[in-house]
Amino acid sequence: MPAALDLKGKRFGRLVAVARVGTTPNRRAIWHCECDCGGFTRVSARNLAGGYTRSCGCLYRETRSTAAAKGWRVAASEWKP
Ligand SMILES: [Zn+2]
Repeated sequence: MPAALDLKGKRFGRLVAVARVGTTPNRRAIWHCECDCGGFTRVSARNLAGGYTRSCGCLYRETRSTAAAKGWRVAASEWKP
C-alpha cells in the first residue's frame, strides 16, 4: 500500500485537514476537515488535493443564495460538497 498523503494541518480553500479517519474502497485516505464556517466534512484525499472540495458545503450554499439574490446563474460544477 503506498504511503498516504499527509494532509494534516493543510488548508484547502475553507477546509483544514484535521485527521485521517478512514480509507475509501479504492484506498484513498479520508480526511476529517474543519471548515472556516465552523462546520466539518469528510473528504477523500483525492478530492482535497485535486481542489474538488473546498468547503463543507457552505461555499455552495452562500454562492447559491448570493447568486439567487443577484439573479446569477451558477454552474452545477460549483457544487462539490
Ligand atoms: Zn463551511
